[in-house]
Amino acid sequence: MILPLVLLTAAVPPFDPVAATDAYLATVGGAARARSDAYFEGGYWLILWNAAIGMGAAWTLLRLGMVARLSRRAETLARGRKAGRAFLFALFYLALTGIVTLPWAAYVGWVREHQYGMSNQTFVAWTGDWLMGTAIGTILSALAALALLTLYRKRPRSWWAWGTLASGAFLFVGLLLAPVFVEPLFNRYTAMPPSPLRSAILQMAQANGVPARNVLVVDASRQTKRISANVAGVGPTVRVALNDNLLNRTSPDEVRAVMGHELGHYVLNHTASLLVAFTLLAGLFLLVLDYATPWLVARYGQRWNIQGRDDPAMLAPALIVATVLAVLLTPVTNSLVRFHEAQADYFGINASRAPDGWARIALKLGEYRKLEPSPIEEAVFFDHPSGRTRIRMGMEWKAHHLGEPDVR
Ligand SMILES: [Zn+2]
Repeated sequence: MILPLVLLTAAVPPFDPVAATDAYLATVGGAARARSDAYFEGGYWLILWNAAIGMGAAWTLLRLGMVARLSRRAETLARGRKAGRAFLFALFYLALTGIVTLPWAAYVGWVREHQYGMSNQTFVAWTGDWLMGTAIGTILSALAALALLTLYRKRPRSWWAWGTLASGAFLFVGLLLAPVFVEPLFNRYTAMPPSPLRSAILQMAQANGVPARNVLVVDASRQTKRISANVAGVGPTVRVALNDNLLNRTSPDEVRAVMGHELGHYVLNHTASLLVAFTLLAGLFLLVLDYATPWLVARYGQRWNIQGRDDPAMLAPALIVATVLAVLLTPVTNSLVRFHEAQADYFGINASRAPDGWARIALKLGEYRKLEPSPIEEAVFFDHPSGRTRIRMGMEWKAHHLGEPDVR
């Protein structure tokens, strides 16, 4: 009995995961590689530019006295009611900064995406999405600002602790409601028609304890050429969706590899752990704001006309501080998300048993994500593992499962 097994093992050619990874990476070169690198590296600078333009707009509105005037106007309209004033001010101010920074948003979201061949949208369609997104974002952010400004006014010492709880609740409600109320405003989600692929996805889901009876397809090609899939929602609103670009441009093994990854997010409870992590980060933000915002106002705010703790205009300098902090914490937030993504990657490779499908998907994702960054670059700027890291994961897995009949 032993001899045939030895022969079988000897018959499998040696497989070097490093060489296999390099062979995959070598298939993307020349102009395609240069374009992907340029697109992604440009994104590093966008972090700084976004922050500079956001802070520049806030600083200008403060110096011109517009923030103070908006605060006075909100007070009049709210007839002295402090909560009404805080909400109206936040609504006006956030809408105003949205409008002031619209040209920049159009460059990043439409012009640049077209330059790199990523976008399928006309400018009119993009503007429609921007208006709807900004309107929803402004109203929700104004409600969050109302809660935080009220706590700041009424609980001078402990507001940041209460604010952390409130932030967690806000994130939870947002995650719960977004798939039901927000996402359908931008895209259509339809049930995937019956097919062997759909059965394979549902089989993989049920085998891993995901009670899915339905696979959704989202018409992301309305906006973009990117392939993607996602899991969203909390508790009763959880759903797994794959986008039509993925379905149209990839083989069934590639789709299974992606869906295995998405199931990983679900099975490993990533929504819950990221919710906790980002709530704690919100707490850190509020603690820093508690110290740094009054300092900023005292140091630079002689002409801003902000009238102390009761004045909701404090929101403007607070957002400047938050922007600086967000830039500084970029490596932390990226690494936090990337850590979860890597977990889902391993889960997905195990669930789909399609390491080559996985490698080919990693190459396609490389159209908009640099394939071979340096380790520091990956740690700082990547919120998903790079193409090279992902292909290597797949090839290592393959090396340990060679010759098994269901590995593709
Ligand atoms: Zn993921």
